[in-house]
Amino acid sequence: MKKKETILRGIPASPGIVSGKAFLYGREQYTITRRLVKEDQLLNEIKRFKEALVQTKNEIIEIKKRISEEMGVKHAEIFSAHLLVIDDSMLIEEVISKLKKEKLSIEYIFQDVLRRYIKVFSEMDDEYLKERISDINDVGRRILRNLIGAKEDVLSNLKEKVIVIAYDLSPSDTATMHKKNVKGFATDIGGRTSHTAIMAKSLEIPAVVGLELLTKKIESGDEVIIDGTHGIVVVNPTPRTMKKYEQDREKFVSYAKHLLDLKDLPCITLDGKKIGLSANIEVPEDVPSVVAHGAEGIGLYRTEYFYMNRKDLPNEEEQFRAYSSVAKKIKPHSVTVRTMDLGGDKFLSQLDVPQQMNPFLGWRAIRFCLARPDIFKVQLRAILRASAHGKLRIMYPMISGIEELRQANVLLGEAMKELKKEGLQFDENIEVGAMIEVPSAALTSDILAAEADFFSIGTNDLIQYSLAVDRVNEKIAYLYEPTHPAILRLIKNIIDSGHASGIWVGMCGEMAGDIVMTIILLGLGLDEFSTSPIATPEIKRIIRAVTINQAEQVAKGALTLSTGKEVEAYAKSKLKEIVPDIAAELE
Ligand code: PEP
Ligand code: MG
Repeated sequence: MKKKETILRGIPASPGIVSGKAFLYGREQYTITRRLVKEDQLLNEIKRFKEALVQTKNEIIEIKKRISEEMGVKHAEIFSAHLLVIDDSMLIEEVISKLKKEKLSIEYIFQDVLRRYIKVFSEMDDEYLKERISDINDVGRRILRNLIGAKEDVLSNLKEKVIVIAYDLSPSDTATMHKKNVKGFATDIGGRTSHTAIMAKSLEIPAVVGLELLTKKIESGDEVIIDGTHGIVVVNPTPRTMKKYEQDREKFVSYAKHLLDLKDLPCITLDGKKIGLSANIEVPEDVPSVVAHGAEGIGLYRTEYFYMNRKDLPNEEEQFRAYSSVAKKIKPHSVTVRTMDLGGDKFLSQLDVPQQMNPFLGWRAIRFCLARPDIFKVQLRAILRASAHGKLRIMYPMISGIEELRQANVLLGEAMKELKKEGLQFDENIEVGAMIEVPSAALTSDILAAEADFFSIGTNDLIQYSLAVDRVNEKIAYLYEPTHPAILRLIKNIIDSGHASGIWVGMCGEMAGDIVMTIILLGLGLDEFSTSPIATPEIKRIIRAVTINQAEQVAKGALTLSTGKEVEAYAKSKLKEIVPDIAAELE
């Protein structure tokens, strides 16, 4: 009997459309029976366990090396966390002492301990610990597989092209997945900023996350369509649906190609106003994609990845080398280096930071830096030194009021003095700006503007704080509305305050890459858009199709509306009217 078509909506994670056979991943269970072992075999069981640990460790080191070469160090960093799990002496000791007590096979004991660890972690209501569950699970499955001599995980050995469907994908799943055999993927959990979403974008394969019940509604071998642009998954599509998506896919591919034709054209409005268009990066390895997509510089360099998943702190020299290499490659354009935004959902492995009840509202970003000037100044010195090799700007994250900006600038002044004394060169006129991503900063942006060289609006956080919506929780993603009137008013206030003080205002949150918002943002007076490299050509396309006057009228109209839904519908209709060939993208 023909299976019924099911359409599911999730969160768009990476654009594009693909279809193919579903491969349900993560369901395979190793059958481990309860087997007694004799006293004289216990040493042999321990030996087997230790051998499995060594084998697993070698495998992970090998993957880490390969991923680092193929995709850059950032993607390989997670495996350092996996290595920490393997070296966890508590886990090892617990397994061995349980083995001696219960005298059951080592695989049975290990699985038992592993399940208990996962249960304890999952009962703690903490996002950070939840991330650790996937590390423990991932490493635990590898160790088990090696203990029972099962074959290598399937994702790295796929024999045909498939669409991977999973409840969640661990970092090692996504990293070992080969682009050539994974056409796209979809998961039950996750938000726009989850690891899987970021990885899909950098692999440039279509993906949808946060589908909640997808794995319950699909079987391996089912035909499936992934529309990563709109966050739609169709299971067992009818021939009619299939045909429609095939046409959409062709349109998407030719549209993306056509957009790249704009790569070398200036980002100017129809009436000739120059608008900044730059890209966001996490690690220096992202630079080629920035150049390939024609972005003019880097509007957000998220430096905290230096500090994650490692045991030591990055020293001044290491940071200097990274910042100056990016500066040289992007020259003559500028690179806005955001000082570390540690805390929140970004993991501090080497620093003694206690667990926090509300990490997003806790000891984070500039708050952490001001409390640890020893660590902060190392970074400031490195950025300053790199500013002698290209055009760099400094930007502080999570500024909530003028005192924080002043305190950060005092430390920056000290770093400058030290460098001068040491005879080291730096750009003495380096621009220093503040991210505006906390509502209190947005509302006091007039005060901040008097002492900043520029603003960059961090909408990812500004929206979560203003609307009280956790940005990584798929359950409440429907409330995360960039078009909410409160957000438009805050953005207007920030831009107006910046301009009144004669400084420029950019945006580096995801909203800057959202085509629905481009005309409104332009009309509100935004000077620079900074977004993921793959999103930049489309934003340029829209900017080049509109006049400032048209955009101002659209923004004015948007500000009279009462709900996010109304603003969204209005923005879409205006976009279709002004840039008709974008209509298909919006359907
Ligand atoms: C933001 O909050 O919008 C932003 C760009 O910073 P991050 O996503 O790193 O918090
Ligand atoms: Mg932020």
